[in-house]
Amino acid sequence: MPQSVPHTDIVIIGAGPIGLELAVALKAADLEYIQLEAGQIGATMQWWAPGTKYFSSPERIAIAGVPLIVADQEKATRENYLDYLLAVVGTHQLDIQTYTRVVRIEQTSSGFDITTVRSFTGVGGPDEPNYTPPPNTQTINAKRIVLAIGDMHTPRMLGIPGESLPHVSHYLGDVHQYANQRVVIVGGKNSAVEAAIRLFRAGAQVTMSYRGEKFDPDRIKYWLYPEIEYLIKKDKIKFIPHSTLESINEKAVILNNGESIDADFVLLLTGYEQDQSLFEQLGINLVTDDRKPEFNLKTMETNVPNIYVAGTATAGSQIRTKVFIETSHIHIDRIVAALQNRVSDAAPEDYWLEES
Ligand SMILES: Cc1cc2nc3c(=O)[nH]c(=O)nc-3n(C[C@H](O)[C@H](O)[C@H](O)COP(=O)(O)OP(=O)(O)OC[C@H]3O[C@@H](n4cnc5c(N)ncnc54)[C@H](O)[C@@H]3O)c2cc1C
Repeated sequence: MPQSVPHTDIVIIGAGPIGLELAVALKAADLEYIQLEAGQIGATMQWWAPGTKYFSSPERIAIAGVPLIVADQEKATRENYLDYLLAVVGTHQLDIQTYTRVVRIEQTSSGFDITTVRSFTGVGGPDEPNYTPPPNTQTINAKRIVLAIGDMHTPRMLGIPGESLPHVSHYLGDVHQYANQRVVIVGGKNSAVEAAIRLFRAGAQVTMSYRGEKFDPDRIKYWLYPEIEYLIKKDKIKFIPHSTLESINEKAVILNNGESIDADFVLLLTGYEQDQSLFEQLGINLVTDDRKPEFNLKTMETNVPNIYVAGTATAGSQIRTKVFIETSHIHIDRIVAALQNRVSDAAPEDYWLEES
């Protein structure tokens, strides 16, 4: 290995909530590590619409022993949580190399060579398709790597004509822009339902297109479900069941039954997929319909020795969301134990038991 290449024991890739929680634990365990993040701390939350609220209670998404206190004792907003993550970083004096994107990992005789480039956003979000890695690269060598890279990197595309028109987006963005506009929202999960309610209140004329017959009360948050049902029943929001989009043009969307719905904006809130390029480069097996990385449940080590996964990175492109912050805290203890050649006594989560 050339002398100029910095070397460390462990590299954490990603500084979302779970990457940060892991960093605090590694520091407490006195393990040597470097943390790399493509954007700013909590970059995934940065592209959420302003004012978006977490579904989980604050205490369930708090990390590293730092209380998440919200002024009205309600659910935290994206803004609350971004501030909170900075407070965690400050409290624990974490040293994070932000705006540093990992583009390549190669196995060497001394571990792994990790190639990084400067980047200006986290991986994922509306700017991601326009990102081109700059030519200047840097390399870090590490014995072990934890991929805490998240799972919401690119939108799940519908693959229909007009999907890339400028008034069509897979991201809600600032709700204010939709006031007095005709907006068609596609999707049937929490994000689509929440967007419809918010847009209605912001003065938009909302039409929802959903491929199912009606929203599933077991899959929509219990405080959103009655609200959307009420707004649809009272014709405040137009709901078109059993519908899919055939195409989008400058003025309207065309449904599978040939119906044309006028639209000034179209929001395709149909979920996101994981960028799996690092897994593929490393030879990590991608399994199940979600194409999640193969890993040992007790240690979080993948089928490639010394490569670990944490947080939503473990989940692949989730078709039905089971892995999120709340259910990922347990990964930390397993990884720290494995890195110290101990066995974690953290119990497997029920969802894993169901699937394994
Ligand atoms: C609207 C919405 C509401 C949600 N509400 C909740 C909730 O109430 N409760 C809950 O538990 N979860 C919730 N989630 C899910 C949860 O917030 C996210 O899943 C959370 O961000 C996951 O944390 P993470 O640390 O695993 O991944 P992320 O926060 O996605 O962090 C991954 C980080 O890795 C970085 N990265 C990726 N690739 C690279 C690379 N190659 N090089 C360098 N850095 C890289 C990214 O830039 C990113 O910052 C919600 C999600 C959404 C969209």
